[in-house]
Amino acid sequence: MEINGKTRTCGLIGDPVEHTLSPVIHNTLAASLGQELVYVPFHVKQGKLAEAVRGAEALNILGLNVTVPYKSEVIACLTEIDELARNIGAVNTLVRTASGYKGYNTDMEGLYRAMQSEGIKIAGEEIILLGAGGAARAVAWLCTMRGARRVYLLNRTLDKAQTVAAEVNASAGREAVQPMRLADYAQIPKGKYLAIQGTSVGLSPNNEDVVIADDAFYEKVHTGFDLIYNPWETKFMRLVKAHGSRAYNGLKMLLYQGIIAYELWNGVEVSEDEAQMVYKRLKDVIT
Ligand code: NAP
Repeated sequence: MEINGKTRTCGLIGDPVEHTLSPVIHNTLAASLGQELVYVPFHVKQGKLAEAVRGAEALNILGLNVTVPYKSEVIACLTEIDELARNIGAVNTLVRTASGYKGYNTDMEGLYRAMQSEGIKIAGEEIILLGAGGAARAVAWLCTMRGARRVYLLNRTLDKAQTVAAEVNASAGREAVQPMRLADYAQIPKGKYLAIQGTSVGLSPNNEDVVIADDAFYEKVHTGFDLIYNPWETKFMRLVKAHGSRAYNGLKMLLYQGIIAYELWNGVEVSEDEAQMVYKRLKDVIT
């Protein structure tokens, strides 16, 4: 693409940002849709976030994605926040407005679109969610808002699971999320569950790590969804498949959270054909 006086800039702020795949998503979309836009990573060191957002506003940057460790901290830098992002307590997308930036959370809807595209149902389901960090928090909201019957929320640190459960249950007006200690997984009642792996265990280069290795756990899983996409197939996914069930990685979640951000920045709708084209590019980059 030729950069000219009308080219708009979007980007990612985080620490670190070197491993991001987001430039692949946005620059591929801009090229394919013929839009004058470039997307670049910005490494923002800790303590510099507010300055970075003010600087972005002064430079008239159209939009930003926000990654670890700033998804909560960035809320204090916004002039407006979408209600869903406020409820989740995490923002991963900033959209330029006349007065500053409005914050959104596209991770949650991104995961929903990813699940829909794989034919995975949430409404009426019994779900096991492993982890209670930033990503798992959004998953707990998604599952509850989309009508999961029950979510067993398991975390190594129990009080984090309890905090997330209390917030989601209060907002939903029902006791949908049950917090548990990770080590107590054997207490989950007999049944078949959708299991969502939302911890950072198993992330490359620790490809052989898995948050639960016990066969008895995997016998309860009818579908496994790992938010990790690097490696392509995590140990969690391998264990799910070894017990005869389907397993998916988090690449489509990454894809769709990016597509929703792109749509917000540019006021366009990205077609499913375009989405599949970007997915293929992403897959080529990581495999
Ligand atoms: P985070 O906020 O740092 O949370 C990490 C989670 O992992 C916590 O629940 C933590 O438990 C748990 N954990 C870490 N080490 C553990 C261990 N040794 N044993 C048991 N539990 C452990 O991270 P995050 O932002 O939620 O991200 C979590 C994962 O999701 C990452 O792998 C990330 O790559 C992935 N992700 C994917 C997408 C996507 O688009 N596909 C988007 C966002 C995140 P404690 O609370 O006990 O520390």
